[in-house]
Amino acid sequence: MNNFIILTIGYKCNNNCINCMLANCLDKLDPISYNEYEHILVKTKQDAIYDSLILSGGEVTLTPDLVKFISYAKKLNYFKHIRIQTNGRLLADFDYCKSIVEAGVDEFFVSVYGATPAKHEALTKAMHSFDQTIGGLRNICSLGAKIITNTVVTSINYQDLENIVDLVYKTAQVHEVFFTNYLPMSTYDSLDLLVKNEEVKPFLFSAIELASKFNIKVFLDGFPKCYFKHAYCQSYPRAQIFIDDKFWSEYQNNYFRCIYKETCKDESCLQLPLAYINKYGWDRAILKSE
Ligand code: SF4
Repeated sequence: MNNFIILTIGYKCNNNCINCMLANCLDKLDPISYNEYEHILVKTKQDAIYDSLILSGGEVTLTPDLVKFISYAKKLNYFKHIRIQTNGRLLADFDYCKSIVEAGVDEFFVSVYGATPAKHEALTKAMHSFDQTIGGLRNICSLGAKIITNTVVTSINYQDLENIVDLVYKTAQVHEVFFTNYLPMSTYDSLDLLVKNEEVKPFLFSAIELASKFNIKVFLDGFPKCYFKHAYCQSYPRAQIFIDDKFWSEYQNNYFRCIYKETCKDESCLQLPLAYINKYGWDRAILKSE
């Protein structure tokens, strides 16, 4: 398992995802400058705690000089893996995708929100984004890089999770699938995207079962660990995140809580976001601390 350092190097985006954690603050955040980037990477190499790099945004492929950022990291001859987090749309251009791989990216973390254009674009709110993301996955696969897909689970797509696994398996050689619980950056679920844990569970479990048949590893993020424990076949890698401090003041709106926190031994569980508790209550009957 690798320990990742995550650097956010640009906040432009060509999608308009309604589930985006940065939606309220994208235009207020300042990316890490190139000089700062070099400094952080040199220090990371000296400290030798984090051995792999993730470049994130915004949509990182819109960052001018992305190849320069990647090439510098590669030239340090230190990182085990260099990953980008992306919606994959610009990677549908084979030559651009190839330039990213040749600069040094060996892992792509690609957002896939639905198994059809209608489902995917109901969340991305960007026409043609589905076809472009699928094109990007095919190009990455043909260039031999590792593919991890990420699906933010919402009321729009939770019944589609098994189809998403089937789609990505048939599209490219996908090594890992992340299912990330939707996190409203507010104390209320104003977009009505949260799903009750009991409702999402059967769909999540059948998607995980299908992924295991395809030999794809599954990671869950942001689901209460005690209720989904049989699905936690993989643990989330350690990561240090470098992002504008203004993001963290937005993030504070989430206020994670659990009535069993005092007795729960699972330090790594995120608990329930306040928006979930305000919508569905404490899930007293189904959560069990151990
Ligand atoms: S009891 Fe609460 S804190 Fe413990 S695993 Fe369950 S949801 Fe998480």
